[in-house]
This record gives sequence, C-alpha cells and structure tokens, in this order.
Amino acid sequence: MSRRRQIYEGKAKILYEGPEPGTLIQYFKDDATAFNAQKKGTIQGKGVINNRISEYVFTRLNHIGVPNHFIRRLNMREQLVRQVEIIPIEVVVRNVAAGSISKRLGIAEGEPLPHTLLEYYYKDDALGDPLIAEEHIACFGWASNEEMQDISALAIRVNDFLCGMFSAINIRLIDFKLEFGRIWDGDYSRVILADEISPDGCRLWDMTTGEKLDKDRFRRDLGGEEEAYQEVARRLGVLQDDPGPSEVFDLNAHRGKLRNSKTSK
Ligand code: ADP
Ligand code: MG
Repeated sequence: MSRRRQIYEGKAKILYEGPEPGTLIQYFKDDATAFNAQKKGTIQGKGVINNRISEYVFTRLNHIGVPNHFIRRLNMREQLVRQVEIIPIEVVVRNVAAGSISKRLGIAEGEPLPHTLLEYYYKDDALGDPLIAEEHIACFGWASNEEMQDISALAIRVNDFLCGMFSAINIRLIDFKLEFGRIWDGDYSRVILADEISPDGCRLWDMTTGEKLDKDRFRRDLGGEEEAYQEVARRLGVLQDDPGPSEVFDLNAHRGKLRNSKTSK
C-alpha cells in the first residue's frame, strides 16, 4: 500500500489526504487532552468508538438535512470526509450550566439555563481558545454575517436533534462543541458541519443517576472513561457485530478489544 500524505496531526485525530481531490481521511486516535493540552493521556479504544459515534450522528444529521462533511466510514478508526476550509471558531451550545460557564459566571453545575445559549471561542491553541463575541468574528473577518446566520441556525437544529436522540437513551445533553467549514463552488461558498460529534466534545449525563458519560471523566480524574464512552456507543446501538466495509485487517487487530467490550456489558 502506498504511503498517504499526512496533512495535519491534532490532539485527537490525524488528517490524511483522501483518495480524490476535495476529500480527507480522518483517523481517530486514543489520545486525550484537557485544559488546553496541559493534561495528556489516552483512553483505550476511544478512537474506535468516536469514529463510530460520529459516523452515526453525522449520518442521522444528514438525513434531517444538516449538511456535513461525512462521506463514509472506511475502517475501525478512519472515515472519509469532504475537505473544508475550517472556520476558526468553536461553537459551543449549552443547555445546562457546566464547566467553564459555571466557573466564569458562578452558576451551579447542573443548573438548567433559562434558554439554550450559543457561545463562540476563537480556535487557537496558543491562545487557549478564548471566548469571543460575534463582534470579534465580524471585526476580524473570521466569518461573514451570512455565515454566522447559517452557523447559528445549524447549531440550534443540531441541538434539537441531539437532545431528542440522547433523551431517547436516557442521556441528558448538557452542552457540546461544533466546528464548521466552508466548501467552495466556483466563487460561491457554503457552510457545512465538520470535525466530529462524540463524548470528547459533549457533556452527557445519565438522566437517572447524573453519572457523567463523557470526557469530564478524564478531565476530572473520575476513572472509567473507557466504560463511559462504550456505554454511550452501546445505548446508541453502534459498536455491534457488523464490522462495516473493508476493515478485515483492522478488525483482526481489534477483535479482542471488541469482544471484551461486549462481554463486559
Ligand atoms: P485539534 O487538536 O486542532 O482539535 P483534532 O485532533 O480534533 O485537532 O483534529 C482535527 C482537525 O481537523 C481540527 O483542527 C479540525 O478543525 C480539522 N477538521 C475537521 N474536519 C475537517 C474537514 N472536513 N476539513 C478540514 N479540516 C477539518
Ligand atoms: Mg479537535
């Protein structure tokens, strides 16, 4: 097999050149970071699970007409996506106070917000992804007003969908992060959802017990992060026997892990 060209290595994923122009391969690593990468570790099997969860969510979002970069899953850890020009903004959607908003504004974690809140952070690791206002986005030209209208409308639609999807499996969607990108068609561009949706970028609490089923287990040294990610996948009905297309080789490498995760339930 010929070597693929690596485009970028981030904290949780690696991007490779795709088989056709305008495509990329997203490889999901087990690496976990928190607090602007000051804390580093691994969550065994996370990449495999996030690849599956993100595939599932993006496919369903596609069905309800939320345009996104997902094309198809290639194997256990990789998916083919459309290459976009990433808009350097992290969009955070909050339903319930937790994490930085609780700290910054002194709101108890778990307090439902009066209404869904959209926040924007400037995507810049060196600056620690600072919170910004829409005025900063307009002022520095990170996205046009039109793009921001599309982004906020899409973020709200994704939230409505995800709240329903998770409540059906007894999970409360506290907050989550989205990234968007531009695709060009001649002189025109449009905005689509990119990156991933997984327990790495969502806060997910069990509705009955309040137990955290997301990356806060790693951030806060709660332990059991592998099991939490597996539990979300299990409830969503992903990570079943179906190995998906063309992953015979990869499947062998992960057979033991998959079997363990199944029998431990
Ligand atoms: P980071 O450490 O920057 O968060 P990740 O490990 O999450 O990086 O790797 C994914 C990177 O790829 C992110 O920087 C994200 O913005 C970018 N990305 C996600 N989807 C696409 C896409 N469809 N086209 C181009 N870049 C993308
Ligand atoms: Mg990322």
